Amino acid sequence: MHPELIKLEKTFHRSILTKIDDPLFAQYQIELWMKRDDLLHPVVSGNKWRKLKYILDHALSLGADTIISMGGVYSNHLHALAYVGKVLGLKTIGLVRGEQPETLTPTLLDMKNWGMELKFVSRADYRLLRQYKNWQALPNLTTRQYWLPEGGAQALALKGVAKMVSEIDIRYDVLCVPCGTGTMLAGIIDAVPEQVSVLGFAALKNAGFLTADVAAMLSRPRNNWQINLDYHFGGFAKSSAELSAFIEGFESKTAIPLEPVYTGKMMYAIYDLIKQHHFKPGQCIIAVHTGGLQGKRGFDYKREAL
Ligand SMILES: *Cc1c(COP(=O)(O)O)cnc(C)c1O
Repeated sequence: MHPELIKLEKTFHRSILTKIDDPLFAQYQIELWMKRDDLLHPVVSGNKWRKLKYILDHALSLGADTIISMGGVYSNHLHALAYVGKVLGLKTIGLVRGEQPETLTPTLLDMKNWGMELKFVSRADYRLLRQYKNWQALPNLTTRQYWLPEGGAQALALKGVAKMVSEIDIRYDVLCVPCGTGTMLAGIIDAVPEQVSVLGFAALKNAGFLTADVAAMLSRPRNNWQINLDYHFGGFAKSSAELSAFIEGFESKTAIPLEPVYTGKMMYAIYDLIKQHHFKPGQCIIAVHTGGLQGKRGFDYKREAL
């Protein structure tokens, strides 16, 4: 590991396991815990650090001085990358989906302030960028530039996720995680003990394609996993009064913050599935809090703008 990365990780907090107490769980004889990757770092939270760590190490070992990546105007990924780039002294370029908004979102403003060069690309061009799947694949890269594809969908990202799984030191039956590209989910499926089942929750609508995407990322075929497509609440970054009310209730009962794009939807889904007897009595469930709380700010902003 590059010394600068070791130094950076030393400033991080521990991702603990928190037990969630609710009378509901006693009724259904379920135990629910959260793996608090949101606590790791206020900016490079959870999932994004797990996925970035070994990719950054690879880029640094190659002598790269610039990292180019892609994401939306509320992207937790670009936000984390911009911050880490600043700390590590790497130049970062963000290819941002869509037109430049009249007012930059809080996410974009941070990225800009941390020195990321923002280049807005049309939705059509953005889709085309998805074909460049490894670090050298982006056309016209110069020698010290490193391309990081969407979702950090590479073996190096999965390696960081495996570390998260290895930190879980209690016996458990089900591991739950929200899915965007499914990279985190793939890393978890790869890394869990044989008897554990893994449940992903899609944050996007019509995410049927995810199953094939995730299967393709696995290092060996496994049949211990499923992706639930039913709790997207209308689509990516869409919400409802019901979801907002659930999040507020959860936050006030547990003092654990959620955001509506990923973790709020997953927790809503888990509670709902418990009530539908989806889990067997006696089962212990762990939900991964993948962080992303900065996106909540972006989300509120967006709702005001609508
Ligand atoms: C990016 C992100 C995800 C999705 O991760 P994938 O590996 O793309 O599935 C989930 N939760 C949060 C908070 C995220 O920022």
